[in-house]
Amino acid sequence: MLQLVNTGHKSLADYASLAPRGLMEEIKRLVEPIRGLRVLHLSATAFGGGVAEILYTLVPIMRDAGLEAEWRIIQGQEEFFNVTKAVHNALQGDRRGLTEEDREIFRRYNQLNAAQIDDSDYDVIIVHDPQPVGVIDHFSSSKAKWVWRFHIDMSEPNPEVLDFLAPSISQYDAMIFHLAQYVPARAGLPPAFIWPPAIDPLAPKNMALSYEDAAYILDQFGIDVERPLLTQVSRFDPWKDPLGVIDAYRMVKREFPEIQLALVGSMAHDDPEGWEYYNKTVAYAGDDPDIYILSNLNNVGSVEVNAFQVYSAVVIQKSIREGFGLTVSEALWKGRPTVAGRVGGIVTQIRDGETGRLVSSPEECAEACLEALRDPEMARRRALLGKEDVRHKFLTPRLLRDWLVLFNHLLGHDTGGAENELIAHI
Ligand code: UDP
Repeated sequence: MLQLVNTGHKSLADYASLAPRGLMEEIKRLVEPIRGLRVLHLSATAFGGGVAEILYTLVPIMRDAGLEAEWRIIQGQEEFFNVTKAVHNALQGDRRGLTEEDREIFRRYNQLNAAQIDDSDYDVIIVHDPQPVGVIDHFSSSKAKWVWRFHIDMSEPNPEVLDFLAPSISQYDAMIFHLAQYVPARAGLPPAFIWPPAIDPLAPKNMALSYEDAAYILDQFGIDVERPLLTQVSRFDPWKDPLGVIDAYRMVKREFPEIQLALVGSMAHDDPEGWEYYNKTVAYAGDDPDIYILSNLNNVGSVEVNAFQVYSAVVIQKSIREGFGLTVSEALWKGRPTVAGRVGGIVTQIRDGETGRLVSSPEECAEACLEALRDPEMARRRALLGKEDVRHKFLTPRLLRDWLVLFNHLLGHDTGGAENELIAHI
């Protein structure tokens, strides 16, 4: 059996007063026809990045809602994760293809993992991201419904790598993307459904934390809590552009010499390139004592990430390519002025100039940070409007509701047409 992730218990009722009105009743209605549904979530890692973040909440609240949901992690070693990283990059458009050896490794690990799954234990099997996508090849007569949940932009995939995966993908009953424009234009793929991920307002990462407690926590990392701070929280990855954040910070420092910068990034074990880029970022920061480069290896866990976001004068997410960018909703939920790259799912989270700022270069990023530092009250007002957008669109109960609609649809139950809003019309 594949390793089960212990996600603990969460109570759906606890979300009632934070969620928009009517949503909890809708969730109860949607659960009734599928109570007890056996759902498997399969992913590559229980640690680091957005997918793990979402599943730690989604799985226990699916259970509390009345489904038998569980989450298991596929097995793999470095040779596999090197290939899956290449697959991930290629599906986002990287020109580098796969060698015959890469393909063999990918198939071999998918087969090994498939051998450890008994599909008759489940009614629905949800495969997250490309790493385990080929597991389905070994279940040709499965009675379960299979769903592929892809978390990044696949609108311009490397065609050769898509050719390699398409025979597996086409066997799924449905696939899900964050945005309609992420769905690859290719015949023969399953119906695509569209919904964004969500943040958990009750998780340690997002629960209410006072400014004083945040300052107390940051003080322990050496941050001068008498001075303002810019923060970006993200993996060390070229698409997250930490070097561009350092450039923007240096421009801001000309007008606000007291400014500090924190780059907080977790290191996932399935991300061998992360270390390389971490070292590059450290070298680029040079010996500037006001730049703090921290990770989970410095004990920056969820509460600490929360504290960095709560304390920051501006939270930056200067991605140049982004699947969704959960950190943007996280920052807005805390009412913090937010400046983020005008890419991918970020543009669905920020209304530029109304709830935060969207930027396309280090110069624009610096200018948007300066605007917030010069007029913090204006920036805060915007962020609070952004928080209300997050409440309606990007909190866990809405995500649960979308999954329930899909499950009902796949099992042939009438949802009054709710799935029509989620189907991608392309
Ligand atoms: N994160 C974290 N610690 C870190 C870096 C990131 O907890 O040091 C979290 C971050 O708060 C967010 C998630 O990892 O919840 C990253 O999700 P996002 O969608 O922003 O990016 P991804 O890593 O999925 O590309």
